[in-house]
Amino acid sequence: MNHRQHNTFEKRIIELRELLNQYSYEYYVNDNPIVTDAVYDSLFGELKSLEREHPECVTVDSPTQRVGNELKGGFAKVQHSTRMLSLNDVFDPAEVEAWVVRMEKLIPGQKHEYFADVKMDGLACALIYQDGVLAQAVTRGDSYIGEDVTNNVRTIKNVPLRLRHTKGFETFLSGRTEIRGEIVIYKTNFEKLNEERRRKGEPEFANPRNLAAGTIRQLDPKLVAERALSFRGYDMLRENSDDVPTMAYAYDAMTALGIVRNNVAKVFDSISDVMTFVRKWDADRHKLAFNTDGLVIKLNDRKQYQDLGVVGKQPRAAVAFKYAAEQATTVVKDIVVSIGRTGAATPVAVFDPVSVAGTTVRHASLHNADEIARLDVRIGDTVVIFKAGDIIPQVESVVLELRPKGAERIVYEKLLAEQYPELEFERQGKDVVYRVKGESGDIILKRALQYYASKGALDIDTLGEKNVIALVDAGLVKDVADIYALTVDDLLTLDRFAEISANKLIDAIQQKKKPSLEKFILGLGIRHVGAQTAIDLADKYKSIDALVDTTIEELEHVEGIGKVVAESIMAWFADEDTIALLNKFHRLGVEPVYEKKSGALVGNSFVITGTLETMGRDEAADRIRSLGGVFQTSVAKDTTYLVAGGKVGASKLKKAQQYGTKIIDEKQMLELIADK
Ligand code: NAD
Repeated sequence: MNHRQHNTFEKRIIELRELLNQYSYEYYVNDNPIVTDAVYDSLFGELKSLEREHPECVTVDSPTQRVGNELKGGFAKVQHSTRMLSLNDVFDPAEVEAWVVRMEKLIPGQKHEYFADVKMDGLACALIYQDGVLAQAVTRGDSYIGEDVTNNVRTIKNVPLRLRHTKGFETFLSGRTEIRGEIVIYKTNFEKLNEERRRKGEPEFANPRNLAAGTIRQLDPKLVAERALSFRGYDMLRENSDDVPTMAYAYDAMTALGIVRNNVAKVFDSISDVMTFVRKWDADRHKLAFNTDGLVIKLNDRKQYQDLGVVGKQPRAAVAFKYAAEQATTVVKDIVVSIGRTGAATPVAVFDPVSVAGTTVRHASLHNADEIARLDVRIGDTVVIFKAGDIIPQVESVVLELRPKGAERIVYEKLLAEQYPELEFERQGKDVVYRVKGESGDIILKRALQYYASKGALDIDTLGEKNVIALVDAGLVKDVADIYALTVDDLLTLDRFAEISANKLIDAIQQKKKPSLEKFILGLGIRHVGAQTAIDLADKYKSIDALVDTTIEELEHVEGIGKVVAESIMAWFADEDTIALLNKFHRLGVEPVYEKKSGALVGNSFVITGTLETMGRDEAADRIRSLGGVFQTSVAKDTTYLVAGGKVGASKLKKAQQYGTKIIDEKQMLELIADK
């Protein structure tokens, strides 16, 4: 059963909400995350978009609606003078553009200056100075109420207990000055602490962020002092907001007052300059002393910032640009088996497309039966995908809490039998891979090449069975695309060829460098993709690239394509060898072209029953297609003509009547397909 049927969006929203709240509790309250931020962010992103589509399902306890978590206790609670908000995450330049457009609509006609700083991965804290003296330090908490951690923060060496006096900044030494910033542990200090723990045989700390958060909420300030925490400011609040006109001014003032802040922060006139800055820090962020997962971009002008206000838990005038993570979550739509060039069967998980490490991932190899069993991945499962740099994407784990009820454990042998009922597989010795019984690489390649060159497909003159066998046996072609790299000299090394015949074959091959897309698709020899399906695919996708990028759901929506065919197509394109083959075709100058359908029979579909007297069925089909018509094998809703070669059987007749299909004889058909 399709998992969507029993896993509606409502159920998914509730499940995501509960799971994310559980993750948040471990992260914020226990300082002990059970998943990475990338996994949290990915599931959070899914919840956010589901809630956007179904606003009626948003509840107050949704993680999209609240900041942090309820407080743990042990510290006095303090109400913030102004909420300590969270930031809206954006992941690509288009989202940044959309943010700018939204702001321009709300405050039209105003010039924007942007202020950008790296986003520190620590915990937020507000330092309250009264007449220049540190009076209180408060965590962000749930944004309204934080915890009083003054005694602990006093032990942080770079937090001034009294603000410095600098000419021109005296205002901040009287009344209330609130400095907001991030408490972090530098990477080197974190490493040192962990080294010590290793030496003592103690469990290591998971990451600097959670160590910093856990440390600041220790009840013993002595322990806090040992952990080498640092504070870095990113904001400044005064009762009179005119005291801090811009973000840039706030940063200057912080320096003047003796507060450490990031020196890399800058003002920009245009968003494209901001994006250059974003890219620079994507490459260089590892050089920073602390961990960062992105950049914060704000409007520089504080009045504009205030005017734009807050939506939910985020200010409208700021965003956090998050760098592409190496992990993401998605839902497994199907598990298909691809048969490689050597007859090896490889299971492949097909997903809802997801962006990981900057590329869109649609499927990932599950390698073999052992790996499926190890992961226990099932159709409908939410999985964590991992991809770093050029590494091929992998399914890392399954989020078991989100498994739909009734998702069945995969029995690989069953999967093979379902998807390849006509084939037999075997597993030899210690080999973990199932291979097609009795098939070897050469046999498969010879068959594939012969099919590619055959009349119905590319129709390459003189590349028949004997030449194919000779070329493969001599090792001159290792895959189908290799024929385009053949030279006359290559052929002359074989006994079969003389100057003329070699030239003739090379010419014939070179002439087929711009095949029609449908013939090319057919020529690829994808299982279950016959002439009509190849045409349907060409009509729908219009290029090979678009077909490569398709999803299983989209394929199933193509007229005439069902689950079995869709799975077969998906398996073919999910195979790394296929992509390498397509790239090779491209490199060798093979460019399939989509020809827009024209001709007298566009919009008409034909079924032939019985035997024709004047021509073969294939010939008639070719003729119908060349005139833009569709050739079908059985009568369906959209069949225009049923050609009766002899008497029409009762069931066909009934269907034709039911669908309003016209029944014509051979003579009438010949008139329709005659040259006009
Ligand atoms: P956020 O922490 O990502 O963004 C807001 C915060 O950014 C501010 O409060 C501030 O403290 C900080 N910040 C750092 N540098 C800044 C700068 N230069 N200028 C301004 N602010 C700066 O938003 P959030 O929604 O409060 O927290 C979500 C984060 O917590 C995500 O990264 C998420 O992955 C993580 N999280 C992880 C888990 C888990 O289980 N792994 C659970 C919950 C949350």
